[in-house]
Amino acid sequence: MIYIGNHLSSSKGFLAMGKAATKLGGDTFAFFTRNPRGGKAKDIEEADVAAFLDYAKEHDFGPLVAHAPYTMNLCSDKPDIRKFAKDMFADDLQRMEYIPGNYYNFHPGSHVGQGAEEGIAVITEVLNDLLTPEMTTTVLLETMAGKGSEVGRDFYEIRRILDGVELKDKMGVCLDTCHVWDGGYDIVEHLDEVLAEFDEVIGLSYLKAIHINDSMNPMDSHKDRHEKIGQGHIGEEGLKGVVTHPLLQGKPFILETPNDDEGYAREIAMIRSWMK
Ligand code: FE
Ligand code: FE
Ligand code: ZN
Repeated sequence: MIYIGNHLSSSKGFLAMGKAATKLGGDTFAFFTRNPRGGKAKDIEEADVAAFLDYAKEHDFGPLVAHAPYTMNLCSDKPDIRKFAKDMFADDLQRMEYIPGNYYNFHPGSHVGQGAEEGIAVITEVLNDLLTPEMTTTVLLETMAGKGSEVGRDFYEIRRILDGVELKDKMGVCLDTCHVWDGGYDIVEHLDEVLAEFDEVIGLSYLKAIHINDSMNPMDSHKDRHEKIGQGHIGEEGLKGVVTHPLLQGKPFILETPNDDEGYAREIAMIRSWMK
C-alpha cells in the first residue's frame, strides 16, 4: 500500500486541496508553499486548517509533501538571493507547523560555479540555523537530476548535506524517479541495486517520499524533463516496479507529470490498479 496524489493549487486553502485530492482519487497531495517562483505566501486561515485536519483524518490521508518554491536557492552566489531564500525557508517552516507532522521538500540548490563543496556547506549551515528540536515537520532533500550546478545530483551529495546537519531526526529525502533516472540511476533494470546503494550511502530510514514521474530523456541525461506515466524513457513497467517495491510501501507518492485534472485522475487510477 502506498499513498498517492499530485500537486494541487493552494489558492483556495487546505480544505479545498483535501477535497480536490479525493476527487482525483488521491489520499495525499503536494502543494507549493507559495508561488513556485517565490513571493509572498497566502495567509493561513485557522478555521480552514482545522477543517482540513479533520477531513484528512476522516479520509485516511497520508503525509503531505509540501514543496518549497523551486527558485529558492539557499546556496546562490549572490548574498541577497541567499538571504531571501533563507528567510523564505524560515517562514515556510513556521507555516508548516499549522499542519503538524508533514513533509517540507526542497531542492538543495544550485552552487552556480562555487563548487558542490561550498554549496553543501551553505545548505547545512542554513539547516542548522533553522531546524529546531520542537518542530514537527520533517524537511526533505530532493534528489536532483544534476542539471547545471544542482547540488544533490547523487546520493553522496545528499549524504554530505545530512552529515553536516545536527538535528538529523528532522531530515529526510524525497526520491524523484525522473531525477534519479536522469542522474544516472537505472531504476528500470536495477531498482534493487539502486535502493541498496541508497541504503548504503544515505540510509533507507531517511527515504520519506517519492516523486513519481516518467522522464522525457534517457538515463544519465541530466535534463530533468518530466513525462506522463508510461510515456517516457522509464516507462510503465519501470514505474510499476517502483510503486510496488516492498521497501517503498507506506510512503506518499506524488505525481509531477505534465497533466490536467483528468490526466492526474487517470494516472492515480492506473497506479492504484498496479497495487492489486
Ligand atoms: Fe521538486
Ligand atoms: Fe520532483
Ligand atoms: Zn524535476
